[in-house]
Amino acid sequence: MDYDVIVIGAGIQGAAVAQAAAAEGYKVLVLEQFDQPALGTSCKSSKLIHGGLRYLETAQFALVKECLDERAFLLKNAPHLVHLVKFRIPVYKFTGRRPWKIFIGLCIYSLFSWKGFRRVPKKRWAALDGLKTKDLNAVFSYYDAQTDDAHLTRSVLASAEEMSCKTEYNATVIGASLKDQHCSLTYQQDDSSHQLTAAVIVNATGPWVDRVSASIGAGETQRDIDLVAGTHIEVEGEIKEGMYYVEAHDGRVVFVMPWKGRTMIGTTEAPYLGDPAKIEPLESEIEYLITVYNKYFERQLVKEEVINAWAGLRVLPVAKSSAFNRPRDTLMLTDREQAPRVVSLYGGKLTAHRHMAQDVLTLMRDSLPQDRTKIADTKNLKLPVVD
Ligand SMILES: Cc1cc2nc3c(=O)[nH]c(=O)nc-3n(C[C@H](O)[C@H](O)[C@H](O)COP(=O)(O)OP(=O)(O)OC[C@H]3O[C@@H](n4cnc5c(N)ncnc54)[C@H](O)[C@@H]3O)c2cc1C
Repeated sequence: MDYDVIVIGAGIQGAAVAQAAAAEGYKVLVLEQFDQPALGTSCKSSKLIHGGLRYLETAQFALVKECLDERAFLLKNAPHLVHLVKFRIPVYKFTGRRPWKIFIGLCIYSLFSWKGFRRVPKKRWAALDGLKTKDLNAVFSYYDAQTDDAHLTRSVLASAEEMSCKTEYNATVIGASLKDQHCSLTYQQDDSSHQLTAAVIVNATGPWVDRVSASIGAGETQRDIDLVAGTHIEVEGEIKEGMYYVEAHDGRVVFVMPWKGRTMIGTTEAPYLGDPAKIEPLESEIEYLITVYNKYFERQLVKEEVINAWAGLRVLPVAKSSAFNRPRDTLMLTDREQAPRVVSLYGGKLTAHRHMAQDVLTLMRDSLPQDRTKIADTKNLKLPVVD
C-alpha cells in the first residue's frame, strides 16, 4: 500500500485531517488541484475563530461550545495567527433582536467560553467608529477571535508536513476504485495520470465535494447539497474599536471588521449553481453590503470605494429553511458503515477544523493499520510560522 490516508483537497479541512493523521503516525498524502493550499473557500471566509453567537438562536449549542473550546486551543497553539478582538453589538429601536435577547445569548456564550461581556456606557458611544447613535438603545461588547484563514491553513498543512505528510500540487483526482480492503486512486498531474493505493481516501474538497464523490465512485457518500455564496467587500480606512455585528433589513447578521489596515464587510447569502472555481461576487450582493453598512455608520459608502470583493461557497444540506438558519457543523458520510474506505466531508467551520479531524480519524480507525507510533496530540501542537 502506498499510503494509509490520501486526503483530496488542501483547504483547512484537508490540512487538518492530514495533520491529525500524521500526528497519529499514519503515512499521509494530500492531493491538491491548484498550485498552493487554501485557494478555495479557505481564503474567502469571514476569518473569525468564533463560537458563532448567532448559532445560539437556532439552538446549535453543541456546535457553539465545540467552537469555543477550539478557539481556546488555537489561541494557545497559534498566538501568531489567532488573536482576540472586541466585538460590538449595537441594538437600535428598529432592530429585530432586542437587548434582552442579546443579553441572554451573551450569558450563555460567556458560560461556554469563560470570557465575560459588558454594556458599553452611553458616554463611550461617540468613540465607536462613527456608529450612528440616533435610536440606539444599547451596545454590547464581548470578545471573539480573528485569523488569516489562508495563513492558518498553510500553517496547519506545514505542521502535517513536519510529521512526514507529503503534498502534491496541480494534482487533480479524477477517479478511484474501491476494493474490499483498500482503494486505488487516479490523479492527473502535468498531463499524465498517476495511480496510488491507500487504506482510506478522505474527500475534503469543500464545494467540489459532490463532484469528487461522484468521480471516485463513492456512491452512497453523495447527498443533496446547496452551494450558497457569501460575499465580502473591502474599503479603505480601518475601523479602530473592534468588530461590529449588525443586523441587515432581512434579519441576517453582517460583520464590519478591521482587516489589514482596511475595513471588511460581509457576508451575503446567494444560491450558486455554477462551477465552484468560477465563483464571483454579484453586483446585488455588493450593494446589499453597502446598504447595511450605510444604515449603521455615519460614513456613507459608494460603490466606487469598494477596492476588493470576493465570494466563497458554503456547503449546506438541502432544506426548505433559509441558508442563514441551516446547521453549520460538518457532516461526514462514508461509503459503508464498517471500516469505510471513503469519508466525505460536507460543510463545517474553519474554527472547528481540529475537532472535525479527530472525528474523521475515529471514523477511519478500523480501516487503518494498527502498527504505528503516535507522534503528537494536536491539542498541544504549536502551529509553525509560515509565509
Ligand atoms: C462566506 C463564508 C464565510 C465563512 N466564515 C467563516 C468564519 O468566519 N469562521 C469559520 O469558522 N468558518 C467560516 N466559514 C466556513 C469555512 O470557511 C469553511 O468551512 C472552510 O473554509 C471549508 O474548507 P474546506 O477545506 O472544506 O474547503 P476548501 O477551502 O474549498 O478546500 C477544498 C480544496 O479541495 C481542492 N479540490 C477540489 N477538487 C479537487 C480534486 N478533484 N482534486 C484535488 N483537489 C481538489 C480545492 O482546490 C480546494 O483547495 C465561512 C464560509 C464561507 C463560505
